Amino acid sequence: VICEECGREASGQARGWRCYLAEYLASDGNGDLVFYCPECALREFGPLRFRSTSDDDPRG
Ligand SMILES: [Zn+2]
Repeated sequence: VICEECGREASGQARGWRCYLAEYLASDGNGDLVFYCPECALREFGPLRFRSTSDDDPRG
């Protein structure tokens, strides 16, 4: 597993690494899986969003 951005190789367990489908990122149809290390994933895509119960409370 090598980071698409910085080329860093995951040492041991790829904890926190994210995998994306390049086809989803680039619209040229070249679908391939790409990996981002935690730092680059955070920089490129921002922090993972966790749904908060207060965000969509049906009672408004
Ligand atoms: Zn990286």
